[in-house]
Amino acid sequence: MEAMSGYGDNWGLIGHEWAVNLLAGRLATGHTSHAYLFTGPAQVGKTTLALRLAQALNCTGANPPCGGCRACWLIEERAHPDVLFVEAEGASLKIDAIRSLQGFLTLRPFEARYRIAIILRAQETTPSAADALLKTLEEPPPAARLFLTADAAGSLLPTIVSRCQVIPLRTVPVAQIEAALREQSGCPPEEAELLAHLSAGRPGWALSAAREPQILAQRAEIIEQMLTVLQANRTARFQYAEGLARTEGLENVLAVWQSWWRDAMLLSEGSRARLLNVDHLATLEQVASHSGPEEIRRAVRAIRETLKNITTTNVNTRLALEVMLLDMPYL
Ligand SMILES: [Zn+2]
Repeated sequence: MEAMSGYGDNWGLIGHEWAVNLLAGRLATGHTSHAYLFTGPAQVGKTTLALRLAQALNCTGANPPCGGCRACWLIEERAHPDVLFVEAEGASLKIDAIRSLQGFLTLRPFEARYRIAIILRAQETTPSAADALLKTLEEPPPAARLFLTADAAGSLLPTIVSRCQVIPLRTVPVAQIEAALREQSGCPPEEAELLAHLSAGRPGWALSAAREPQILAQRAEIIEQMLTVLQANRTARFQYAEGLARTEGLENVLAVWQSWWRDAMLLSEGSRARLLNVDHLATLEQVASHSGPEEIRRAVRAIRETLKNITTTNVNTRLALEVMLLDMPYL
């Protein structure tokens, strides 16, 4: 008889088959680690995989993670009394959060086999919180399991990384995301193709954009504004920078710019293979032939630098945007 599972063979994930196989193999032989670190870009599937592993460890169904038992259900809803989700409130994950995590892990499981703490975006821990976390990783209580997610292993203390089994998740092929959107989410073919491309290999992004139409609408608005301001003169650009500096979700705005200009760069170099903004091909081709490769490369660099500076340094956002806009071509 065929074994039934609510999540299917690949634990309901799009891509990352090797990671699911590895973890399922360890579960089958009872050799799971005390701590796992899932790394990779935002929305690639790190949290979903950590959550599935927590379900698999505590599942009471026949084919863990079954997706149908009480434990699987409560963990999916993030409401299981033995599974704690920890993440930064504001910019950083502070020591208080790690202290309550430690308290949580020292208690015996309430109803499940394991007490599990899942730390999201572990790269946001403050130095003192990281030290406290290291202590827990060095001497975890017997029934405790710790799962961390982070953008990259390099953004954590090496001593933390060395205590975890690292599962590096990479971007998923566009064709695989496209197929999953059509077959699992019932997306119309054209929309599935666009979302898969725009996701740049991140299934989580594609799935949320398929669920929430405002994500695509917002992107369209950002591109329209960008094309308008790049046709304007210096003064208008400075005015725009001032407004943009106060915009909520500025990082998202710049990420859209970046992906658009990256496509223009690929086109100006004669490559069409890895384009993301496939619905803007005509405009992109116009821009690629109007502005030279050198000018386009400078634009890509300017956006990348600005994005980096406003997220990692205390640079004056308005000034940074003004400088960026001066480096952008006049369309
Ligand atoms: Zn289950």
